[in-house]
Amino acid sequence: MGEARKKLLEKIADEKYFEGWIIEDFRVIERLKKVPLLNKLVLTIGEKRIKKTQGGQIISLNDALKVLELCENPALFPCICRRMSGEEGYYCLNFGILPELYEKANPDEYMEELSVSKAKKLLIEWDKKGFYHLILWSKAPYVTTICNCTTPYCVGYKARFVLGLKTAMIKGEYVARVNNSRCVGCKMCLTRCPFGAIRFNINEERAFIDINKCFGCGLCVTGCKNNAIELIDRRLTPAKNLW
Ligand code: SF4
Ligand code: SF4
Repeated sequence: MGEARKKLLEKIADEKYFEGWIIEDFRVIERLKKVPLLNKLVLTIGEKRIKKTQGGQIISLNDALKVLELCENPALFPCICRRMSGEEGYYCLNFGILPELYEKANPDEYMEELSVSKAKKLLIEWDKKGFYHLILWSKAPYVTTICNCTTPYCVGYKARFVLGLKTAMIKGEYVARVNNSRCVGCKMCLTRCPFGAIRFNINEERAFIDINKCFGCGLCVTGCKNNAIELIDRRLTPAKNLW
């Protein structure tokens, strides 16, 4: 591991520093975005900075489970996004060198080392609850974390939708597709989608996906009791350039 990446990871592992870093970055970007003509430049620089430091991409449950199979040492961490919103909860899975650095930087904080099978069970549980999965990198392509979050708390979501920083939460590799012959029009998938990408055709009484909005998280797939939704490769659809 390069020295620059290790230094970045040490910063990320230190909760207080990390929280302050996010808050400060958000403030600076919000302020600069208000200056006419600077808007685009600020977003370009902000996105480049996130690419270099830490950003994320939505992944499906199946892919998140596959990532865990490649990990030797998943560990359960408190969710900083929820903490920043005044909630406490353990929903982040970190691996690689991060657990060790985290323990050093936050000696009073609880962190639990998990077996891969326990970590997989948690992922499945969180998916049932409707938490989407986000894989984070620290200086791509080095991945460190699977976050399991929801829109009221998720810093990546706020960075993308409030500040316009796409690299904070890149869309997933897939988009969802409804199989009309299986859909019974129960509307369950509409309540599962965190991105408002599912609509309802009242004439046909079937759900359909707005692929412009779909992030490929797969929550609609795991939530449909009729197996009426599948994820397909984004690159094979008209949404291939929508990240
Ligand atoms: S959850 Fe499944 S069956 Fe129900 S509306 Fe959505 S796609 Fe159709
Ligand atoms: S339509 Fe399905 S896969 Fe797409 S964002 Fe919504 S829940 Fe996720």
